Amino acid sequence: MARKSKKTENREQDFLKFVTKYRDIRFPRLEFKTGELEAILPNGYNDPGRFIQKHREWIQGKQKFIIDCLKAAKKLAAVRRSRDEFVTLVGSIITHFTQELSVKVNSIYYRKMRTKWASFSARGNVTINTLMRNLPNKQIEYIIYHELTHVTERHHNDRFWKLVSRRFADYERIEASLFSYWFLLNK
Ligand SMILES: [Zn+2]
Repeated sequence: MARKSKKTENREQDFLKFVTKYRDIRFPRLEFKTGELEAILPNGYNDPGRFIQKHREWIQGKQKFIIDCLKAAKKLAAVRRSRDEFVTLVGSIITHFTQELSVKVNSIYYRKMRTKWASFSARGNVTINTLMRNLPNKQIEYIIYHELTHVTERHHNDRFWKLVSRRFADYERIEASLFSYWFLLNK
């Protein structure tokens, strides 16, 4: 019995192999983007194994998080709404939050993005991932609020999460659910 569960665990570990990339940087780093682990190493870095060994716990923690999100994704369903309904909803949420946060938005763009739900440019343009069309209202609201909060604080630091928690006290739970939805909608 114990043996069987170990086998399953190994299979999941195999499945969750991460990507190793080489770039013109000075120090190696680990990144966890939407659903993917990346080890980014300086060009010519000759001992990736050692670096990964050093950060084993961090990697395992993230892998466990991914496994949990995949499990949770099985219980979720994509929300069905028309493109018009979606565009109207996004427009009204943006209007609401730009007033609440005293932020200006110039244009709203829609396109399919591979690594993020949305982005907000320095020029005040919001880009919405068309995958958001199948998210529940609360998640859509959260993503937009999150992006508009970046006007005040660019980085994901304590100050940023404090601002986000003013409206979304349960932001950690929503963030986790967004990983699950990401897996569900990118299947
Ligand atoms: Zn952010």
